[in-house]
Amino acid sequence: MQPVDIARYKYKETLHDQCGVFGIYAPDTEVAKITYYALHSLQHRGQEGAGIAVSDGQKLRSIRHMGLVTSVFNEENLSKLQGFIAVGHNRYSTTGGNTPQNTQPVIIPGNGNFFAVAHNGNIVNADLLAKKLVGVKRFSTSDTEVLALSIFHNPKPSWEEKILAASKDFIGAYSIIAVTKNKLFAFRDPWGIRPLVIGKLNGYYVVASETCALDTIGANYIRDVGNGEVISIDSSGLTTIGMIGKKPLKFCLFEYVYLARPDSLLNDVLVHEVRQRSGKILAHEAPVAGDLVVAVPDSGTSAALGYSQASGIPFGEVLIKNRYIGRTFIAPEQHIREQGVKAKFNPMKKIVFGKRLIVVDDSIVRGTTMKKIVEVLRKCGAREVHIRICSPPVRHSCYFGVDTPNRKHLIASHRKISAINSFIGSDSLRFLSLKGLIKASKLKASRLCTACFSGKYPMKVNYGFSKNILENVC
Ligand code: AMP
Repeated sequence: MQPVDIARYKYKETLHDQCGVFGIYAPDTEVAKITYYALHSLQHRGQEGAGIAVSDGQKLRSIRHMGLVTSVFNEENLSKLQGFIAVGHNRYSTTGGNTPQNTQPVIIPGNGNFFAVAHNGNIVNADLLAKKLVGVKRFSTSDTEVLALSIFHNPKPSWEEKILAASKDFIGAYSIIAVTKNKLFAFRDPWGIRPLVIGKLNGYYVVASETCALDTIGANYIRDVGNGEVISIDSSGLTTIGMIGKKPLKFCLFEYVYLARPDSLLNDVLVHEVRQRSGKILAHEAPVAGDLVVAVPDSGTSAALGYSQASGIPFGEVLIKNRYIGRTFIAPEQHIREQGVKAKFNPMKKIVFGKRLIVVDDSIVRGTTMKKIVEVLRKCGAREVHIRICSPPVRHSCYFGVDTPNRKHLIASHRKISAINSFIGSDSLRFLSLKGLIKASKLKASRLCTACFSGKYPMKVNYGFSKNILENVC
């Protein structure tokens, strides 16, 4: 692969990295196949590209391509990934960095060695770290490559020491799984912004973004990788080799709202139950008379059930989702995104006609989805359409790995709720309060990152170089 001229790329490309990661250390096991199944269950965390790298103790073999897990891998290519340690990655769709070079795991070869890294999150000081890599060739525009190179080229003698020393300089969100010749490493930023869990399968350890991946492959959930914790897994088992730095946990609240699968446990709390509670709380905060509580599937389903239970208004299926369409954000152009919404949800006219609907969804970002949904429901003869959103308005960009658009595209950053209501054409629009959402999560407010709602970032985010950051910080 030819090195890229980094200067040609805008840094906007390197941000946004909401991804799924998985790793396994298991001799005498088909680790590539298990990684495939795990990645498949983490597909909701990224649909742009997928990759698996496997070490057999001597060589690293890998496959990385753009596309869904099922289109990247097949029996034949998976059978070529022989070895006993694997790391896999699903990459999230971005607005600009949709290039094959940015698929992961990032692989750094050299001196008869290799280091393969899968990363979920975003390093906010990647540009500063990149500047320190004097004379080091880069092959992609991703912040993950910067951190992988920073570890690889750290002068300390062992991988353990390299990871501990280099990571101290990383600022931002990172849940990382890395493979060397004989070891699997997993580590998490000191704030623990993105999830990372440990499981056990037939006596061997696995690490994944979410517990739904453990369930899929038949592994038992053991515990989370702690915030700032670095673990290594090898023939002697699992060892905590040190801490990168200890900060108070600042777990991403939006993981509960939208990003994670409802059947996953985050901080030992079932996501479905958080969403259901959020719906119940919203029913108390924002009651409205109606005939039917309707979910925007699938992200609004758990919350709609909760709203229905607390309000006593029946829950009904109205919007049928075409499950072969990815998350609406996949298409980066606005006009394509609008088409995507229409193709994604088809309302059942017969049920909608003449009814006062309470439509529940998890969030409003640009307003595209809800505007279209209200439009189609009205066309189907809905008498009233009341929108209930089970999170507060998203007013601030995320710098820690969620693909929130530039702040000026966040509808709630510049419009009052009444203006959003007019824009989407609903009869009423209410959002859950931040307090209500935190209560639903069962975590203390001090242990959560609420920046996209509150604008309170757990760390400095503007390192002066990233165009995206400068554009977003108002
Ligand atoms: P929008 O149409 O821009 O208002 O986006 C809101 C819709 O996108 C909701 O139905 C959410 O379930 C979903 N959503 C929220 N956040 C994200 C995200 N980071 N990536 C993809 N979809 C999202």
